[in-house]
Amino acid sequence: MTRRAIYPGSFDPPTIGHLDIIERAAEMYDELIVAIGVNSDKAPYLPLDQRLQALADSTAHLPNVKVKSFSGLLVDFAQQENARIILRGLRAISDYEYELRIGLANRKLNPEIETVFLIAKEEFSFLASSVVREVARHGGNYQQFVPAPVEKLIAKRLADSPGS
Ligand code: ADP
Repeated sequence: MTRRAIYPGSFDPPTIGHLDIIERAAEMYDELIVAIGVNSDKAPYLPLDQRLQALADSTAHLPNVKVKSFSGLLVDFAQQENARIILRGLRAISDYEYELRIGLANRKLNPEIETVFLIAKEEFSFLASSVVREVARHGGNYQQFVPAPVEKLIAKRLADSPGS
């Protein structure tokens, strides 16, 4: 049996904290699907196609990792992909409260799918996509927080619309 896990998120933008979870998870499972959830309510920082490409480029060294997008319920996407594991990263207690609620709701929706948590590395435990966006907006060194393909996209975004 192929052990296939899904790592869902917004990845807006992807960070080296996300990449660390992906690299560790790729060792634990036969196949890992990094799944970008499409949220049509709000305009993203980076468009979906750029996030897909940047994550694919950033994980090119990991042959058992695929990058996809989904809309609708995560458990339905997991079922469709034949994945029984949903993987999430935990940084702090605040993550736990949120994740517990979502994880329990997902179990009610589909009891066959398990949510598994990986603890963030200490050096990345402060890092969030929102931190990267804020640092970039104010001219700080965001480059240290993102994989190289993402760095290029943010630089282009800053050049196209400075201050946003
Ligand atoms: P979402 O909007 O679904 O929370 P994110 O893209 O912010 O999506 O995060 C996706 C997953 O990655 C979440 O489980 C989150 O806790 C985890 N994550 C985010 N940043 C880090 C980090 N620095 N270290 C470990 N896990 C992280």
